[in-house]
Amino acid sequence: MAITDKIYVKNHRQLASQLETSFPKGAFKGATLDILFQGEGLAKLNEASQDRVLEFAEDFLDCDCQANPHCGCADEKFVRYVLELREQGLGPDAIVDVMGDDYMLYAYPGDVLSFLDNSVRTLEAVETLADVEGEHEAANGAQRLRSNLVR
Ligand SMILES: [Zn+2]
Repeated sequence: MAITDKIYVKNHRQLASQLETSFPKGAFKGATLDILFQGEGLAKLNEASQDRVLEFAEDFLDCDCQANPHCGCADEKFVRYVLELREQGLGPDAIVDVMGDDYMLYAYPGDVLSFLDNSVRTLEAVETLADVEGEHEAANGAQRLRSNLVR
């Protein structure tokens, strides 16, 4: 499962009742993107929630794909967001705190940790493979990314 399958909307029940409709807890589920983040119900939310919802839409749903918001760009951008927080030196608990402040989202720190571990392992594999293939630039690139994640 992708990390975006394990990102949830904070105050889910409260938001659903403000919107007078139900939507899944998972932030990146199709119906959540439609109802909460692209829906017409925005005006029904309290101000603090509106800000966060708009922020999320601006940062992750701003692509021009025809299938927006179901094109997958949001997931990709969110993965990059988490990796960037890690590069800034944040650990899993701090990353969860920041996504809560920024977008009213939460995840379990253990899930964030295994996502980060997997990313490091994937980069290691890329590095090894690129070395074997003589693609030293690619190998160096992967190595650089990896060292930013593990420091
Ligand atoms: Zn897109």
